[in-house]
Amino acid sequence: MADQRRLIDDLLDRKPEAAQMIKDIFENNRKLADCAYHDFSINLTPERVVGRRWQCARCGGEIDDRDKMWYERGIKHERNKGAGNHEQSRGSKAAD
Ligand SMILES: [Zn+2]
Repeated sequence: MADQRRLIDDLLDRKPEAAQMIKDIFENNRKLADCAYHDFSINLTPERVVGRRWQCARCGGEIDDRDKMWYERGIKHERNKGAGNHEQSRGSKAAD
């Protein structure tokens, strides 16, 4: 994106560390957006119990625990929808 590139160029002159961080975020978002489906099986922070980072084995994109949970829950719900399991989770926490 031209706007993103201009933002990075401006920052590169004044705040190189901030520019690199933003560049990494844009690059990560691009990887995640271009991937046909993710496999977040690589735990980048095995020493942690919470606040972990995960990497997709296919595209190399990275996400945190919460994003991984929602991604996997979305896949499960889509499968349930396709299987016609509409009644199962209404008013219940059991479907998670
Ligand atoms: Zn991926």
